[in-house]
Amino acid sequence: RTVYVNGAYLPEAEAKISVFDRGFLMADGVYEVTSVLDGKLIDFAGHAKRLERSLSELDMPQPACLPDLLDIHRELVRLNEIDKGLVYLQITRGAPDDRDFAFPDPETTAPTVVLFTQNKPGLSDNPAAKKGIKVISIEDQRWARRDIKTVQLLYPSMGKMMAKAAGADDAWMIEDGAVTEGTSNNAYIIKNNTIITRHLGNEILHGITRAAVLRFAKEAQMKVEERSFTIAEAQEADEAFITSASTFVMPVVEIDGTAIGAGTPGPVAARLREIYLDESRKVAV
Ligand code: PMP
Repeated sequence: RTVYVNGAYLPEAEAKISVFDRGFLMADGVYEVTSVLDGKLIDFAGHAKRLERSLSELDMPQPACLPDLLDIHRELVRLNEIDKGLVYLQITRGAPDDRDFAFPDPETTAPTVVLFTQNKPGLSDNPAAKKGIKVISIEDQRWARRDIKTVQLLYPSMGKMMAKAAGADDAWMIEDGAVTEGTSNNAYIIKNNTIITRHLGNEILHGITRAAVLRFAKEAQMKVEERSFTIAEAQEADEAFITSASTFVMPVVEIDGTAIGAGTPGPVAARLREIYLDESRKVAV
């Protein structure tokens, strides 16, 4: 695989990052994951915009290559011959001379930029979309700025392991009695044909897929309510699903052991998945 590190396209075995990189030492970094279908990037503009916001919220210097990010994404997709897959991008505050809590001077420490691709031939016809996934609920123990897409993914990793140990596929996180989001996705329920998903705020990541799905749903005259909901309400819902750049729209058929609706993927989630894939492919770059 060819990867991108600070301006160079290199074989992955030759790519190197300093041990003093703040991404490594302090999780002082942000990232984006953009999906690729038919060799084209899905919603690149949305991901680029959120990236700039994450950088700015953390006072992280903008890397010099920022205006060329689309070209860099495309070049890696081309070099690695990705038809279906993902492009992972990470920017850290870089590698100062020594470990120190204070942010380094951006004049002397440039950000580190890394991109790599992941080949996922089954990305758009994932069999899980036909079966649906099972989730458990866990306390949300992440930091309070989940709207910034940082590489602090330890708690979400633990959540996935807790789900696995419970025989489930993923976990929905709970704060003050309400669902915030999934470990790596936004959470939704459907009741009487109304799509319900938590309102935006610092408590959740502002999903790029979420924004697109809600826009398509409104264009298709579906009702949308952006508000919090509980696990009890979700267990009484007609359908449930998650969204993310790598799963698109994925039905949820069981929450904490309780079947949702008939315990099989519902028609609204299936329709949203179809609309999302069709519409995003049309404008892929
Ligand atoms: N919430 C969290 C915590 C996530 O990690 C992700 C995926 N990165 C999402 C939501 C979904 O965001 P997107 O649709 O932009 O992939």
